[in-house]
Amino acid sequence: MLRLGLTGGIGSGKSTVSRRLDELGAVIVDADAIAREVVEPGEAALEQIRERFGAEVFAADGGLDRPALGRVVFGDPEALAALEGITHPAIWSRTAERFAAAEAAGVPVGVHDMPLLVEKQMAGEYHLVVVVDTDEQVRLQRLVELRGTPEDEARSRMAAQATDAQRRAVADVLLDNNGSPEDLVAAVDRLWRERLVPFADNLAAGRRREREAVVTLSDPDPAWPAQAARAMARIHHAVGASVATLDHIGSTSVPGLVAKDVLDLQLGVESLADADDPEFVAALTAAGYPRVEGCVADNPKVDGDATHEWPKRFHGSSDPAVAVHLHVREVGSPGWRWSLLFRDWLRGESAAREEYTALKREAESRGPAVADYAEAKEPWFDGIHGRLEAWARETGWSPSPERA
Ligand code: ADP
Repeated sequence: MLRLGLTGGIGSGKSTVSRRLDELGAVIVDADAIAREVVEPGEAALEQIRERFGAEVFAADGGLDRPALGRVVFGDPEALAALEGITHPAIWSRTAERFAAAEAAGVPVGVHDMPLLVEKQMAGEYHLVVVVDTDEQVRLQRLVELRGTPEDEARSRMAAQATDAQRRAVADVLLDNNGSPEDLVAAVDRLWRERLVPFADNLAAGRRREREAVVTLSDPDPAWPAQAARAMARIHHAVGASVATLDHIGSTSVPGLVAKDVLDLQLGVESLADADDPEFVAALTAAGYPRVEGCVADNPKVDGDATHEWPKRFHGSSDPAVAVHLHVREVGSPGWRWSLLFRDWLRGESAAREEYTALKREAESRGPAVADYAEAKEPWFDGIHGRLEAWARETGWSPSPERA
């Protein structure tokens, strides 16, 4: 099942989006509703609150007196931590139950309607994060005029939340809701059809997205590094314990370089045996990064070393909209080191970037097939080994991977 995190500032229009997703066939897991549910009469958490905070935070009808509880924990970090120590585990296990039930029922998409997704840094837990993006002024006006929220209350609640920029940084999809509700619903329908359904199908089948048969070079996209960071957060969430290093490599990691619209990532493991562990493979597949069988080595890119293949493992991406090539290599192996050196050389040397760009353009012009393109670049790679090593010596380069 595709796990989708839905968020947006207060008044952004999340409810409209989740209603529509529900109509389309998703299951909605509403974080606010669950937070209320776990302290309803008869719930274990409610009894724990009574034990810890006493009768004074209960109303005459036996229910929780929220304002009274709020006053007790306000400005008292220890009391707040105690309260959260009771409510959070109850909320998380109820949330997990809901997702598991939806998955068991064969639902294609589970939506977590989570206002505090950004504040709680949960983006890596979902296959996709969708942010409803509405200008602050518009949100304020709608809250006041349509929901009857007093203006000062609306303002102070907005000020206490994450900023629009923080939300955009984790968004895979921005749904603009400055227009009409009909426009918003149409955008949700398009997202469902074009991305969520094929993504969910791919996840269910454990397969990667369809690949382009034709090479198209894109102008450098400043969004690539953030896209890579989101993918890496997901990979970390899935297999963090096996990750020694995790880097954005390849052309999309070099600012200003034309590239195929593919995010190359390098996951460093202590031993390739870790990458062959069925649990590792299953966790990455479930996270949307299935293993591609039969892709177990790179061409050695060092003169005179043509006899030694450089072993690796390789995973693709299930999201139809984002191509990720995840190369799994042993930390310290020649292939692992080469990828970091090549990236850093391109980042550091504008002449190298120009030369590589010219080569890419030339390779692209030779024909549309991906295999032809890759082959056309090979001789150049064979020839740059000495220059890379000279550059490494001159600059005192050593690998500086992102450590887990
Ligand atoms: P949220 O759940 O994100 O806090 P809501 O979905 O409740 O926000 O939206 C806030 C208010 O704005 C609601 O009264 C809703 O009906 C209204 N609303 C949502 N989208 C639009 C829109 N595109 N145009 C006009 N009003 C809207």
